[in-house]
Amino acid sequence: MEPVLSPHFSLSELTRSETATRLGIPNDPPEGLAANAVRLCELAEEARDILCRAAGREVRMVVSSGYRSPELNANPAVGGAGAKPGEKLSAHCDFRAMDFHPEGTNLATAFDVLRRSALPFDKLIFEIDSRGAAWLHLQVEREGERPARLVLRGMKGPDGSSYRRLPDA
Ligand SMILES: [Zn+2]
Repeated sequence: MEPVLSPHFSLSELTRSETATRLGIPNDPPEGLAANAVRLCELAEEARDILCRAAGREVRMVVSSGYRSPELNANPAVGGAGAKPGEKLSAHCDFRAMDFHPEGTNLATAFDVLRRSALPFDKLIFEIDSRGAAWLHLQVEREGERPARLVLRGMKGPDGSSYRRLPDA
């Protein structure tokens, strides 16, 4: 895979994980996910343009989690979707999602700007965990599918996440 995925996103920032480093869990994406990584970054570049235009200044998207190996995703320190039987595996394991917070605009504003825009995302989630940390989850659709434009608010607790659907306009 190329180290630079798009003008503003690099492979290293999308695969870096403090948890993986700390626990010695490998987090190298398989070659077969390169196309998803590129499509995700194309969507993120478009999101970034929209955020910059709305804020009237440079907005940086600081990625906290991009690709997650199934092992990293299932680790209790990450608690990604799909760790429990019957649960759908997180799109992070497919290299189709990134968690980020914007620098240069506020999180809630960025969420509203993106959900009211024409950005063709599959999912946009405003996520809050039990410690009050918040971030946005941006997801691209599976290759060949149509983006669902699903907007959700998610609460991540110790026993999993609960989601509430919001209007996408
Ligand atoms: Zn996420």
